[in-house]
Amino acid sequence: MAELMDGKALAKEVKRALKQEVAQLIEQGVTPGLAVVLVGEDPASAVYVRSKTRTCKRLGLAHFDHVLPAETGQAQLMALVDELNADTRVHGILVQLPLPNTIDEATVLERIDPRKDVDGFHPENLGRLMIGEPRFVPCTPAGVMRLLDAGNVDYVGKHAVVVGRSRIVGKPVAQLLLARHCTVTMAHSRTRDLDEVVRSADIVVAAVGRAELVKGDWIKPGAAVVDVGINRVGEKLVGDVAFEAAAERAALITPVPGGVGPMTIAMLMENTVSAAKLTLG
Ligand code: NAD
Repeated sequence: MAELMDGKALAKEVKRALKQEVAQLIEQGVTPGLAVVLVGEDPASAVYVRSKTRTCKRLGLAHFDHVLPAETGQAQLMALVDELNADTRVHGILVQLPLPNTIDEATVLERIDPRKDVDGFHPENLGRLMIGEPRFVPCTPAGVMRLLDAGNVDYVGKHAVVVGRSRIVGKPVAQLLLARHCTVTMAHSRTRDLDEVVRSADIVVAAVGRAELVKGDWIKPGAAVVDVGINRVGEKLVGDVAFEAAAERAALITPVPGGVGPMTIAMLMENTVSAAKLTLG
């Protein structure tokens, strides 16, 4: 039976250390500040934004919340981003995705000052990750790696299979695993014989968004399995991995919920504190 990689407990530990760091920064005259911009009324986004704000408060960060109506135009949103870029109290800017389809997401993300891009989605920050000189690593991929690190996973020469190739999760995770000297396979919706690909993995990261797509008998005995997926099935939240069956074979596995999710917010806070430190030089 696999050992659990407990994201809730690890996130708590990360936040405890951050709280102290925030207090020290405040003593030096810098209160790390995060601006969160939410456009429209997507209920899941509203929940994420609330929990980001709550965590800022708990850790002593300043937070600046901007909730805009769904009809907000591109120009108005860009003007707000410009304002936040110029505001010295704001060290990190997060524009909650997805944006309404009347707004071009890429244009907005590119407008954020890369030194305040704590989500790590600006092309400059993604480019830096690609060349092995990361500034802000996207939060969910950073959380995935922190969980694997905490599980003392052996990376060098191991076969890592990342299922999903999104800009937010799959692609950055693959880069981070490559930087740890894994041999990385990126699988996606057009991959043939996905089961066979996953069967050869020492490390599996599933970021697809399809409930229990990865079956238990696809998992190589002794593998480490990180499940990024969050899927609502009736009243329950389930991941992209069939947890019970996979846990019979894996050495390490993340639960859903309580795995990657809590780490994402902890990594956002860490990036915001790093952004504040950047201003100290
Ligand atoms: P996305 O929809 O942008 O990307 C999904 C990827 O899965 C695509 O690259 C696609 O090629 C691949 N895919 C789709 N169907 C497939 C199939 N049948 N076989 C193999 N690959 C397939 O999603 P995303 O933003 O990367 O998110 C993925 C999941 O992770 C979602 O469930 C999302 O809710 C969750 N998520 C969780 C967190 C967190 O903090 N825990 C953060 C971000 C995303």
